Amino acid sequence: MTNSNTYDALIIGSGCAGLSLALRLADKTRILLLSKVSLTSGSTYWAQGGISAVLDPTDSLESHIQDTLNAGAGLCNLEAVQLTVSHGKKNIQWLNQLGVNFTQIETTNGEKTFHLNREGGHSHRRIVHTADATGKAVSTTLINCAKNHPNITFLENHNAVDLIINTKQDGKEARIQGAYLLNTLTNKVRSIAAKTVILATGGASKVYQYSTNPDISTGDGIALAWRAGCRVSNMEFMQFHPTCLYHPKERSFLISEALRGEGGKLILPDGSEFMHLYDPQKELAPRDIVARAIDNEIKKHGFDCVFLDISHKPADFIIQHFPTIHKKCLSLGIDITQQPIPVVPAAHYTCGGVLTDLHGRTDIPGLYAIGEVACTGLHGANRMASNSLLECLVFAEQAAIDISSTLASIPQPYPLPEWDESQVSDSDEEVVVAHNWDELRLFMWDYVGIVRTNKRLSRAMHRLDILKEEIAEYYGNFRVTGDLLELRNLVIVAELIIRSALLRKESRGLHYTQDYPKSDKSKTISNTVLNPTHFTNGL
Ligand SMILES: Cc1cc2nc3c(=O)[nH]c(=O)nc-3n(C[C@H](O)[C@H](O)[C@H](O)COP(=O)(O)OP(=O)(O)OC[C@H]3O[C@@H](n4cnc5c(N)ncnc54)[C@H](O)[C@@H]3O)c2cc1C
Repeated sequence: MTNSNTYDALIIGSGCAGLSLALRLADKTRILLLSKVSLTSGSTYWAQGGISAVLDPTDSLESHIQDTLNAGAGLCNLEAVQLTVSHGKKNIQWLNQLGVNFTQIETTNGEKTFHLNREGGHSHRRIVHTADATGKAVSTTLINCAKNHPNITFLENHNAVDLIINTKQDGKEARIQGAYLLNTLTNKVRSIAAKTVILATGGASKVYQYSTNPDISTGDGIALAWRAGCRVSNMEFMQFHPTCLYHPKERSFLISEALRGEGGKLILPDGSEFMHLYDPQKELAPRDIVARAIDNEIKKHGFDCVFLDISHKPADFIIQHFPTIHKKCLSLGIDITQQPIPVVPAAHYTCGGVLTDLHGRTDIPGLYAIGEVACTGLHGANRMASNSLLECLVFAEQAAIDISSTLASIPQPYPLPEWDESQVSDSDEEVVVAHNWDELRLFMWDYVGIVRTNKRLSRAMHRLDILKEEIAEYYGNFRVTGDLLELRNLVIVAELIIRSALLRKESRGLHYTQDYPKSDKSKTISNTVLNPTHFTNGL
């Protein structure tokens, strides 16, 4: 570090991916680690189910690889799957050594071993967990370790506005130089220079009206990378979690898949089961099948929700295995040991993202993307449950290896330009931003949701074009705010989802369209890759 505005590495995001990378790099690297709000604002903190890894002697790497490939519906990158799965065990041990207190059981010969859950798509029990609040345990442990490291500086309430890239000059290639950051408490923008920048900004599920994700999941990293010139892949594959609590007082509380893994049954209001009509694996079918089944039952009968019932299990088993869900539901007047839980599907996970290689490298030298923001090839057309935290850990390690081996040879960044506010004023119409936020998320839910058609996608595109124009004009005239930046990013993400969905003339994995209800078996299928050099979008 040469001064307080220059670092070796700028990590944008304090979730599992960003924090793991920071801890793996920090001994030899001066790091600035950013969070848009508090350090626990990302999805990581809310993960309930756990992390997948082959730990049971009767399980095998081949089986985990095969399950992941099956879920990915032909679009996984085999190398990415093999890499991720084979690094599972050592990353779980790493977290355990840092202090993550995974739930344990005693074996028949009195030894302690990790308790393993089973979730949809997995053919073995292989999910390590800390009761039903794994993300909280991972997040708080990583934050505590990072806070104790002298080389890691935290910056909360800072929103990355745009990346700064130098253009090709003197025969040198274009490379990342840093980023502009908005302090959302003071509304001032400053530039930070760094030899390397890592996007660890999480997913984009807030582009939909209903989502299990925290408010920060607005696809910022995807939009930042796209504006900077990176390719983005597989954005049509948005995962909808089948079971989000349906309650007027609780917007995005997830009812973990582990509840179905332990025998929870999906039922209609009259108590009848329906999953056998959709898949032989019933409640343990892959998430997309369960989400579509619920969506179909809700739309067919005009119900507000369906129900998930675990009350046939002993009450102390339920309370011991699902303390968080039990407590939350009880606080809303639902005793899950006695009655079924009202549930609806909600946007949950972004399978696509910034295209990277197996070290998290993007198209721009020095710029990396890891965690949910990235498309590494692991998930293909559908993410298997609990593979995402594993991906955060493994690709943080992969990126750390690459960054450590190259950092010494990278020159200090150029002096950065200051943020120019001379042409803009304070907004006198914040209502435009609030209105457009609502409109965007509603039409994405209605037209680009679980079941799609060409007509609905075109309708969404038409509305998006109008929003884009309005937001570009607004952005050009007024001082930036956190809400405006997120809206600008969400509009880009929405466009990438719609364009990718329009390009896929088949149903596959998470992308289901009534116009092409079958998977295309006649030709070699491929991942959808969008290149920003082929588009002009003004944002
Ligand atoms: C309710 C829920 C339950 C889940 N359960 C599981 C599970 O059991 N197992 C599993 O494997 N996966 C689970 N997932 C998915 C998993 O939690 C996420 O994929 C994973 O945590 C993503 O981690 P991340 O580090 O990539 O991003 P996040 O944890 O989302 O962190 C993103 C970070 O980036 C910051 N950020 C974003 N934009 C900006 C910006 N413009 N400027 C500055 N900072 C920014 C945020 O503030 C935050 O710190 C679950 C997700 C949810 C929502």
